[in-house]
Amino acid sequence: MKLEVDAPRLVSEIEAFAAISDAEAPAVTRIVFTPTDLKARAWLKARCEEAGLTVRQDPIGNTFARWTGSDPTLPVVGSGSHIDAIPNAGKYDGVVGVLGGLEAIRALQRGGFRPRHSIELLVFTSEEPTRFGIGCLGSRMLSGTLSPDGARQLKDSEGVSLDEVRQRAGLHGELEAVKLTSAYCKAFVELHIEQGPLLERQRIPLGVVTSIAAPASLRISIEGSGGHAGGVLMPGRRDALCAAAELILAIENAARTSGAIDTVATVGLCEVFPGAVNSIPSRVRLSVDIRDTDLKRRDGVMQEIDSAGRVIAAKRQVSIHTEVLNADAPAECAPIVVEALSESCRKHNLGFLSMVSRAYHDSLFMLAIAPTAMLFIPCRNGYSHRPDEYASPEDIARGTLVLAEALAALSR
Ligand SMILES: [Zn+2]
Repeated sequence: MKLEVDAPRLVSEIEAFAAISDAEAPAVTRIVFTPTDLKARAWLKARCEEAGLTVRQDPIGNTFARWTGSDPTLPVVGSGSHIDAIPNAGKYDGVVGVLGGLEAIRALQRGGFRPRHSIELLVFTSEEPTRFGIGCLGSRMLSGTLSPDGARQLKDSEGVSLDEVRQRAGLHGELEAVKLTSAYCKAFVELHIEQGPLLERQRIPLGVVTSIAAPASLRISIEGSGGHAGGVLMPGRRDALCAAAELILAIENAARTSGAIDTVATVGLCEVFPGAVNSIPSRVRLSVDIRDTDLKRRDGVMQEIDSAGRVIAAKRQVSIHTEVLNADAPAECAPIVVEALSESCRKHNLGFLSMVSRAYHDSLFMLAIAPTAMLFIPCRNGYSHRPDEYASPEDIARGTLVLAEALAALSR
């Protein structure tokens, strides 16, 4: 089979798609179920139908565009990503995996390939947490990680429920119908920009992802006692910010001493009340993000943070309350898909790096129901989620070529 990617067409489609945005170019803003998102969905559906694919949407708006295989009873081979973009983002995050996936299918069609398993392009609803505060909404529901009841409780910042928002967008089916069984998909591959600098730095064109790190998010509230910065003498103080300072260093230390380079912990937000120069901080709220490729190790760090909190609370006479916002499990990618991607790289004489995905993606949730792996392409300076995010046409074309080859191998 002669496999050729139409890079100019793919790049011009990425450009055209970026123009469907609520932000001024080159920035892209595309929030789930806004008129802009619906316009983008319609545009994409038209391109899929032009390619002869059968398009359906599930009740949460996940889109499936199917190239029916010669044996339609077999499980599908899936590929795809997301099209939503956080405010002021770039053109490539998610979109490369969607439009690249479509072009991979077209390249296989042009090459005369006929899949035995159907090949399906998947576009997941709301990978970004912008509107409903939870990332990977569509893939969480597909995999059953988020129950329909859990989804019904979600509201956007205006207080409108997810259920109402999706119905306004024309999606009326029962949310119970979203979950897929593990018999649905034979394999799933997601093409994505790296969102980190490793491939570019090492001048390696492709990354085959062997595991996906997962974050745990904590919200920690520290309650002490406020007072006048002049009036309350040091021995009588219960300063919530001083307690927070000790805890922040304990969090850093817990990650540093986990024994693995893959453990990271970040306190990205620190809110101080009342926040005045002459007032002792009475209350502090910290937001903590902990990631690892190993669940046991990550949970160990969380326990360590918990016990450091207890010690600090007792010593400083403050109360420390920790709320776990989410704690998804990291996952190993499926060897059959990793091997298909690696073999495709070798077939086209393209170097690749076996790597960990440190950002998490819809693939993390797909792993719960399907053998899954990811393919990364470099992005300039590792920048993502900003308007100057950039991936070169050559890198996009290489990623799409390897994806197409892997889809062929998996669907034979
Ligand atoms: Zn993404």
